[in-house]
Parts: sequence; structure tokens; C-alpha cells
Amino acid sequence: MKIHEYQGKEILRKFGVRTPRGIPAFSVDEAVKAAQELGGKVWVVKAQIHAGGRGKGGGVKVAKSIDEVRTHATAILGMQLVTHQTGPEGQKVRRLLVEEGADIKMELYLGMVVDRVTQKVTLMASSEGGMDIEEVAEHTPEKIHKVFIDPDTRLTDADADDVAAKIGVPAGSIAQARAILQGLYNAFWDTDASLAEINPLIVTGSGDVIALDAKFNFDSNALFRHPDIVAYRDLDEEDPAEIEASKFDLSYISLDGNIGCLVNGAGLAMATMDVIKLYGGSPANFLDVGGGATTEKVTEAFKIMLKNPNLQAILVNIFGGIMRCDTIANGVVSAAREVKLSVPLVVRMKGTNEDLGKKILAESGLPIITANNMAEAAERVVAGANAHAARK
Ligand code: ADP
Ligand code: MG
Repeated sequence: MKIHEYQGKEILRKFGVRTPRGIPAFSVDEAVKAAQELGGKVWVVKAQIHAGGRGKGGGVKVAKSIDEVRTHATAILGMQLVTHQTGPEGQKVRRLLVEEGADIKMELYLGMVVDRVTQKVTLMASSEGGMDIEEVAEHTPEKIHKVFIDPDTRLTDADADDVAAKIGVPAGSIAQARAILQGLYNAFWDTDASLAEINPLIVTGSGDVIALDAKFNFDSNALFRHPDIVAYRDLDEEDPAEIEASKFDLSYISLDGNIGCLVNGAGLAMATMDVIKLYGGSPANFLDVGGGATTEKVTEAFKIMLKNPNLQAILVNIFGGIMRCDTIANGVVSAAREVKLSVPLVVRMKGTNEDLGKKILAESGLPIITANNMAEAAERVVAGANAHAARK
């Protein structure tokens, strides 16, 4: 689960990380009021969406008067903000953060992720903050310093001071950087985050170290123990199909192709998408119905896939282990009837009660195309999608 920058900063402050003073705003008037309440001479009006790169996309603007705060808030609120992380259609801005303008001397980078090889939280830090860290990683990887953090000791003073010095924090500011580094680690650990990023971390003209941006992703499997973080969820920022799927316990991710996939098991779902690609097609979604899919679940899955206007065909690929093929066949038949299926449907099933499953499909009278293996299934669904697209 992702959250907004202003929410991330609320979390960081609880862990002793210094941030600029700021107030979230949901309207232009609220933004103006926020700036008046903050006082000072320089404010920054920041679009709040679940994507980075807002600065480059025109979603972060400096204001030197209350009038300018109003102008920027009017321009940003409601805009369709396009960044390298939103896709070409962009994301509508519904919230703003108005914060005090900082006097930036240095822009640094801090990020934390779980490293699966060492099974530790890994701190990545760089002197090259503010810009795309992906570029730095590609062209000048030596500028990214890593610390693999031992959960027993947490981030030690020695490691924090060492990495702070390596990324160029001046000697007089190291103690402040240490507090931020350790606060970031503690926030990451205690909230079950899967990613935490401060980009940029700045050093000001007077040597203060401040988190100017905040990005968090949380492990959804751990959200049950963080009701305060769940309360930060903003459904406006999430894909409606994915929200709908989560209500039925379906693991669903929207993609931009035209072949809907209904598969049991995440590994098989990945392989199915690969085979579709191999045969020249493009998946419209990733969907794992799980081990215990019922007729109701399969029907909901069909409904969600069919809402996608780009959909040209559906491939059902089932390995019957715990899940029996006849159960899926019954689900597919009843779902296809209920939703009045309008696109070609290819079904490939193998395993427990396979023959019974195939019999149910054949006797249903529905125009279901069957396939005996994955290659055949992919070939047929790609052909079906192309033919259906051509007919439209
Ligand atoms: P994004 O990463 O989405 O582009 P940031 O919050 O990192 O958004 O802001 C982009 C840039 O805007 C920062 O690198 C910084 O230069 C500037 N900026 C952001 N907040 C402030 C602030 N409070 N004061 C001064 N400059 C800021
Ligand atoms: Mg940033």
C-alpha cells in the first residue's frame, strides 16, 4: 500500500525525523489559509499523488507571496499530473501540501528496501539527491552507498555517521543526519514498510538536515497490525479494478494489453503472461484466483476483467491440484452465462478431475475454445483476440 508525501512526513516526525512545517489542503482556500497559518515569506505548493517525479511534471511550485500560493494552488489542484511514474494519462491532483520553503544547500538521497539476498533492510544513500536515482544507479553506481542493517543492533551510530560522511554531509551536521538515518530505519521497521525514501534529504544554508520529500510503501500482509496506516489509504489513487478484486480476495493487477488471464497460482499466472507474450499477445491483467476459488469468485473475476474496454479475449489457465478442474469448469460455465460473455474464451486445464472438467465445458453449449497445453492455449487466445479486435 502506498501513501501520500504529507502522510509519510507525519510518520517520519513521529520517529524524530525533521521535516519542513507543512499543512495538507483539499481546496484553494484551504491552501491559502495553510500558508497564512505557516507564516514566513516563501512557501512550496506540492501536488499530493501516489507517484514521484512531481517536480519535473509541474506539480511542485515555489510561491513568494500569498497571491502566488493562490495562483499555484489553483493551477495544480485538479490538474492531470503526468510524471514518469504515472503513465501517459497522468493522475488527477485532489490534495495539496503547503509547506515552508527551505533554503537548500545540498540535495542528498536516502532509500530503504528489504534486500532478499541478505534478508536485511538495506540503506542506500547518495550525494546525488533530488534527481532520478535510477539514472545514478545506472551511470554512476559507485555514488550509491549501501548498508545492510542487522535487525539486532538496528542502524548503529558508527554506520550512520560513516554513510552520512560518505554522501557529503558536513562534519557539523553529522549528528543531525544520524538522527534522521536512524529515525528512517526505525520508521521502516516499526511500520512494516517495504520501501521508504527521502529524496531529497537536504542540508540547509545554516547546516540543518531536513527531509524534504517522503515516500513509503507498506507490506500489505502486515497491514492488519497497523490500523493507523490503513487509515491513510486513499482509494482515489488506486485502480478501481484492483480495489474491486481485493474485496473478493483476488490478486489482481491491471496491465495495458488486451488478453484477460484467469489463473490459479501466482507462478502459473506469471508463466501464462510470458507465454502470451511469446506468441505475440499482450496480457490485460495478472490474476491469481488462489487455491480455493469458488464459482462466486470466478464469476467476480470475469466481471472485473470484462469491465476493461481494451479486453479482446480471455484465457483461463488452471492447474488442478488442490483446486479440482470440475470446480473451475462449473465456475467458468456459470460465470460465462451470467456475464453474457462477448469475447473469445480459451480454457486450458490440467490435473485433478481434468476429464470431468472438460466434459462440463463441452456439454455447456458455450463457444469455449479448449487447449491441451500452454503453447496451444496462448496461440489460440492470441488468434482469438486478433480476430475479435478485427471484427469490432
Ligand atoms: P518529487 O520527488 O515528486 O519531484 P519532491 O518533494 O522531491 O517531489 O520535490 C521536488 C523538488 O522540489 C525537490 O527536489 C526540491 O528541490 C524542491 N522542493 C520540494 N519541497 C521543497 C521545500 N519545502 N522547499 C524548497 N524546495 C522544495
Ligand atoms: Mg522527491
